[in-house]
Amino acid sequence: MDRIGILALQGAFIEHIKTLRSLGVDAVEVRLPHELENLSGLIIPGGESTTVGKLAITYGLVEPIKEMASGGKPVWGTCAGLIFLARRVQGIEQPLLGVMDLAVARNAFGRQLESFEAEISVPALDAVSQPDERGRPFHAIFIRAPLITAAGDGVSVLSRLDNGGIVAARQGNLLVTAFHPELTSDTRFHRYFLAMIAQGQATP
Ligand code: GLN
Repeated sequence: MDRIGILALQGAFIEHIKTLRSLGVDAVEVRLPHELENLSGLIIPGGESTTVGKLAITYGLVEPIKEMASGGKPVWGTCAGLIFLARRVQGIEQPLLGVMDLAVARNAFGRQLESFEAEISVPALDAVSQPDERGRPFHAIFIRAPLITAAGDGVSVLSRLDNGGIVAARQGNLLVTAFHPELTSDTRFHRYFLAMIAQGQATP
């Protein structure tokens, strides 16, 4: 059975664990490097990316997570997790894994829109949708969310807001969402991540 780790240094990790367990997946909290061993994938949750970065350095997690990501293991970052995976954050220096070819702007939606919800179109989710879910927009919850401002050639954009801002993307085994699927009852993004894991393990 697949075991998925959720980086549990800070932030919204419990909700990811609950969602994965509801899907019958073995989900475990990760705080120390040895807890990354024997995982099929890793989720880096939302929270505060500077805090997550500092704690990851303190606990010696930066290099092992980078190795995991560059070795092809599926890694999914939501919100602060997206920021931590990116190569560059506009305007400030902070610890980053830098494994995903993205530039991001933190807190990109300004004060009045610190938190908002939007129905977004994510065609890639059709691959994991039940017939009644197919084509249905995803209810995306944004909380002091980042925006992807530039994506490299190897990055596929999975969803944009109506104004064109990129809010979900994939680069091979790496997935990012600027919003919080774990705060909704719609499990399609978690199933999409499980499908990425299954595809990586399938023998051709
Ligand atoms: N604003 C946070 C940051 O910049 C991210 C917010 C979130 O993860 N919900 O790290």
